[in-house]
Amino acid sequence: MAQTKLAPKKKYGRKEGCERCGRKRGLVRRYNLHLCRQCFREIAPELGFEKYS
Ligand SMILES: [Zn+2]
Repeated sequence: MAQTKLAPKKKYGRKEGCERCGRKRGLVRRYNLHLCRQCFREIAPELGFEKYS
């Protein structure tokens, strides 16, 4: 049986866009993230960021 290999690293860079919703506007690329501001604000608390202003 062929084993399905899970990639250890997420592949970025194929498209410039939010990796969560895909929109390209208002991307936050700091903190090594590829998320739009809206998604960033939603998941920022989960990532440990208190606020993003
Ligand atoms: Zn997004």
